[in-house]
Amino acid sequence: MEAPGRTVLIDTGLGFNPLEGLDSEGGHLTEALAGIGVSPVAVDIVLLTHLHGDHVGGTVADGGAAFPNATYRCHADDLAWQPGVFPDTYLAQIEPVLDRIDPVADGMTIAPGVTVREAPGHTPGHLVVTLSSGGERAVLLGDAVHCPAQLDATDWAMIGDADPALASRTREALLREIDSETLVGAAHFPGLRFGRLVTGGAARTWVPLS
Ligand SMILES: [Zn+2]
Repeated sequence: MEAPGRTVLIDTGLGFNPLEGLDSEGGHLTEALAGIGVSPVAVDIVLLTHLHGDHVGGTVADGGAAFPNATYRCHADDLAWQPGVFPDTYLAQIEPVLDRIDPVADGMTIAPGVTVREAPGHTPGHLVVTLSSGGERAVLLGDAVHCPAQLDATDWAMIGDADPALASRTREALLREIDSETLVGAAHFPGLRFGRLVTGGAARTWVPLS
């Protein structure tokens, strides 16, 4: 996103080398940024909501930082975490930028209109991001909610949740705060489209932007 005077990239996707054997696709970040007129050298801040491979895969290119002028930000608890799964795709995947990471703290505004908040459970240092512009507000849920079914079934765990019970409590608390005026982005929702949550009775409905 373009904050006043700052270009902020939030997560870098699956990356330049899609994971083999999975039904997944990646490696189009650079082209997608070019499509909106953003060169890698113009990115000032790369904010990583958490350090799973499908969110950091485009952080490194050709053995170095894919965004050479950027400061890299994530939560220190994810840097200290030993997940015990996918060891080859965790910190090793971003090794070339590890010494450039400036950890964030809960509630920190990292650029005008861009504020991070701790939302642990999926990973220990998982972050959600609030974007503010004028009177408008958007929330990027990262992996705090993986699919629209979890909007109501907040106790449903995703296989990758490090602490499913904590992830569930975080999810429910987050969703209770989001009103129908707030734009919502979720990293794994169908089509990767922004949308809104419409609450009727006890049910929450996902309404993607058309
Ligand atoms: Zn994840």
